[in-house]
Amino acid sequence: MAATELDQIVNLCKRRGFVYPSAEIYGGFRSTYDYGPLGSLMLRNVKDAWVRSMVQQRDDVVLIDAAVLGPPQVWEASGHLSNFSDPLVDCTVCRNRFRLDKLDDPNVCPSCGGSGTFTEARQFNLMFKTQAGPVADAGADAYLRPETAQGMFTNFSNVLQTSRKRPPFGIAQVGKSFRNEITPQNWIFRTREFEQMELEFFVPPADGASWYEYWCEHRMEWYRDLGIPDSMLRLRPHADDELSHYSTGTSDVEFLFPWGWDELEGIAQRTDYDLTQHAAHSGERLDFFDQASDERYVPYVIEPAAGATRTMAAFLLAAYDEEEVNGETRTVLRLHPRLAPYKVAVLPLSKKDTLTPLAKEIRAMIGERYMVDYDETQAIGRRYRRQDEIGTPLCVTVDFDSLEDSAVTVRDRDSMEQVRVPIDSLMSELSTRLGI
Ligand code: ATP
Repeated sequence: MAATELDQIVNLCKRRGFVYPSAEIYGGFRSTYDYGPLGSLMLRNVKDAWVRSMVQQRDDVVLIDAAVLGPPQVWEASGHLSNFSDPLVDCTVCRNRFRLDKLDDPNVCPSCGGSGTFTEARQFNLMFKTQAGPVADAGADAYLRPETAQGMFTNFSNVLQTSRKRPPFGIAQVGKSFRNEITPQNWIFRTREFEQMELEFFVPPADGASWYEYWCEHRMEWYRDLGIPDSMLRLRPHADDELSHYSTGTSDVEFLFPWGWDELEGIAQRTDYDLTQHAAHSGERLDFFDQASDERYVPYVIEPAAGATRTMAAFLLAAYDEEEVNGETRTVLRLHPRLAPYKVAVLPLSKKDTLTPLAKEIRAMIGERYMVDYDETQAIGRRYRRQDEIGTPLCVTVDFDSLEDSAVTVRDRDSMEQVRVPIDSLMSELSTRLGI
């Protein structure tokens, strides 16, 4: 299979209702995107798959959902107000702006080709600032969170007390984050509004290194299990000069995007930096008393921080395939069933009234358990192709024989194989084939 071009996915996603440019009727809004009928289902599936692996299947992680709006104190303590900035340069010839650390050559403008045309770099803070309440004084300053992580640190004591967990344990969160990126680019890869899936895992300090290894391996497994091939996935340890001052080790999970290897997730050893900072700024004690050893300590933190929207782009790129079938090109999204927007499509062979009641009955039965599409327009071959293109793993065709033999045809997206299945055993057949 040839490498998927970004345009192929962007076009398919627009055409089939995965991702639209936001406020498109007004010309679009600055690299902001809306997730359509299929994209919103798929994005939810990405997040659900993460929660399943990180919370549901474990005893040592709990989920929270913290506020997006926060007071300056949180961001002072975390260091974001003073440090969360990127170096910005302007080209004095073409007036375009760039993030200096992302330029191939820091002296050459990628837009007009000018050499030595950049201004001095300025640090540009990426936080979105707003005001809470009707009075616009400094006390009303608020920020949209640029990461979900701080909600886990500020709730550390609350969760410790209410969940009765003890290190090693984690707090997970999935939700929107906002960064005033200098150069949002590559579709939903880098946007100003995006979704993150983050875990803060608190451990006794001596166990930091081994838990870091554990989470690197565990997170790589997650991407592999959901269908990203090894050839498109790698774990890249940061060089010493890339590490933040408090980090004792960070690795990025990287995906082979059409423009090269780029980050899907960062897994960082954050030591006791965040809890210590918040304890100092808030005056609250943020530590753990271990009764067994009669010791009080500030836990170390391992943070696997992934992007949900960015990861969705990677899953789509990895799944996109085109193949020749009977002299025609078949486009198929080979999405893992867990990620596919619809798991099953119910397709009555004809729109005739005689088939509709049974087809609707089957649609309702499957809808109890799985997200299901129902399509009765156009020739059956075209309807199969439509489902292939949006990644639906299974199609169930209801035909005139079904009225006699109480059986339907199940068609597999990847092999295009068709089998006749009694309606009585349809649900177990679907669940075996889907594996979910
Ligand atoms: P980058 O270097 O690409 O700006 P980062 O290292 O600052 O990213 P983190 O702060 O580690 O990113 O955020 C964790 C994850 O959140 C990233 O790996 C990415 O998947 C996602 N993410 C961060 N910024 C964006 C963005 N602007 N748009 C979409 N996803 C993002």
